[in-house]
Amino acid sequence: MNPDAERERLAGLARSLALGEPVPAITPAQARAQLRRDHFAHIHPSITGERVTDAVEHQFTSLGFCLACGAEAEGCEPDARQYECESCGAAAVYGAEEILIAVA
Ligand SMILES: [Zn+2]
Repeated sequence: MNPDAERERLAGLARSLALGEPVPAITPAQARAQLRRDHFAHIHPSITGERVTDAVEHQFTSLGFCLACGAEAEGCEPDARQYECESCGAAAVYGAEEILIAVA
């Protein structure tokens, strides 16, 4: 996040506090970004660059992967994000193209 945007955000929060407006502790967008960072920081070891590249090259199957447990998810758009995993229930399923950017 760039410093100016952060200053602007804090100034906005300060204004809201001064006016007695409710201040969201964390916005949904930030929560999603945080979740995404967590998922990509702890990619399951079975998800290798080779496996993901393979999935992207055979895209007719529309494969995604669960970053939490490594399960494959079929019928997943290439740019899917945070879909629920059918194996472990975590919202950690990403499309192969999304993951490839991170692991390639
Ligand atoms: Zn899973």
